[in-house]
Amino acid sequence: MAVVTIDEERCKGCMLCIRACPKSILEISKGKTNSKGYHAAEVTEMAKCIACKSCALTCPDVCIEIEK
Ligand code: SF4
Ligand code: SF4
Repeated sequence: MAVVTIDEERCKGCMLCIRACPKSILEISKGKTNSKGYHAAEVTEMAKCIACKSCALTCPDVCIEIEK
């Protein structure tokens, strides 16, 4: 199973990774914000990740790492 790690502190909640994910398993966290006040992206269903790396390649701030 792939493991997606999102650096919440660096994420600015731009949603580009969410739009890029072919499995629609990323969303903006609703409850919590990082120290800059942004709602960071998070993974909803890690088991559905196909490790395509679209999210990581799309993120302008290089916040996402994918491990297989
Ligand atoms: S690696 Fe691909 S399937 Fe997995 S979260 Fe990123 S965009 Fe979605
Ligand atoms: S593309 Fe990067 S900065 Fe934008 S919401 Fe996704 S992880 Fe955060």
